[in-house]
Amino acid sequence: MSQINRRVVLLVPVAAGLAGLHAPPACAAFKRVEETEPKATAIGYRHDSTRVDPARYPKHNADQKCLNCLAWAPEKPADEWGECDLMSDRLVHRIGWCSSYKKPKRKA
Ligand code: SF4
Repeated sequence: MSQINRRVVLLVPVAAGLAGLHAPPACAAFKRVEETEPKATAIGYRHDSTRVDPARYPKHNADQKCLNCLAWAPEKPADEWGECDLMSDRLVHRIGWCSSYKKPKRKA
């Protein structure tokens, strides 16, 4: 192996690793959704599932939270805020809720 090829083999993975350290997490660019935003009000989103109006959403129950919704997609399981498939460029709170809540199917 020539000296140049050896440098490429050794330095490319190092450079790629450093670039990865400085790359922002995928959701870092997203803002937290506000409950008053039209995209949130349209689906009755609340930051806290216990604050959902039972008169308006009679099928809601307090066990339903973003963290156990099919659309919840945080970077890390313990993240307080995470992406939701419905709120394309916003983050939702892990104990939040909206009327599009979807319980994941259990494996048999
Ligand atoms: S779809 Fe699910 S994760 Fe998204 S806001 Fe509604 S309850 Fe939360």
